[in-house]
Amino acid sequence: MALIGAHVSIKGGILTAFDRAKELGVEAVQVHPTPPQTWRRLKPSPDTVDEFRQRMTETGLDAFFFHAVYLINLATARDDLLASSEASLADSLDLANTFGVRGVIFHPGSHKGLGFEAMLPQMAAAMSSALAAAPGRSLLLIENSAGAGNNIGSTFRQLRQMLEAVDNERVGICLDTAHAFTAGYDLATPEGLRAMTKELDFEIGADRLYAIHANDSKAPLGSNRDRHENIGDGFIGNDAFGRMLRDPLLSRVPFLLEVPGLEHDGPDRANVDRLRRLAGLEPVAG
Ligand SMILES: [Zn+2]
Ligand SMILES: [Zn+2]
Repeated sequence: MALIGAHVSIKGGILTAFDRAKELGVEAVQVHPTPPQTWRRLKPSPDTVDEFRQRMTETGLDAFFFHAVYLINLATARDDLLASSEASLADSLDLANTFGVRGVIFHPGSHKGLGFEAMLPQMAAAMSSALAAAPGRSLLLIENSAGAGNNIGSTFRQLRQMLEAVDNERVGICLDTAHAFTAGYDLATPEGLRAMTKELDFEIGADRLYAIHANDSKAPLGSNRDRHENIGDGFIGNDAFGRMLRDPLLSRVPFLLEVPGLEHDGPDRANVDRLRRLAGLEPVAG
């Protein structure tokens, strides 16, 4: 059975993620360890690290992920942006190792017309350098894109080419359901979902999938638009999330909500309960 999780804020400090996870009743968490629109670094005190690790053990919330900053672009032609992107990924991986967090999920970026194949060696080299700069167990997880403009990673084929090019056990995939849907994978229907998981397994391999971003979509199939919607209120729908939560390939990994929330305040209890009901679980009391 899939673990149900959510992206939560760390306003007030990274340790508050555990309180928010408890309030939501989730078993998996994602946070931005640093503000996602800046290159700012986080240098936690040893006390914070100790307390984080202690709370992780106490709560059993070891399905903990970081989301990297949005400024990263490994396919850029600008040397300064590439250097900042690589350093930021290395920092996040190092931070994940320090805290004992499973991995860092990131958006590979856009080639802005230069071409995916042309930029692939540069992207692979940047990922390899970031991993080498942060030795340890933390994973580097490439998130699939909706395919707007020249955004990298909207097809499993491209993701597979990236995995092959970097050739490192620590690199895997995070599948965003809304991005996959608007990239053209019709996971809303039983046949479409079967076709998608088959292609995912064939191109990437189920063992390289480490997390799901469980988001409904405000934008239609194949629109290439990145517009997250609350579970059941978009083009993907409740039935499809029920099937995904029971899918043998997908349900092995945590489902992390990144939905707007009913109050437009981010993932909330209502969306967590929707996923839990669709998974055939009782809502958590309290
Ligand atoms: Zn993301
Ligand atoms: Zn996502």
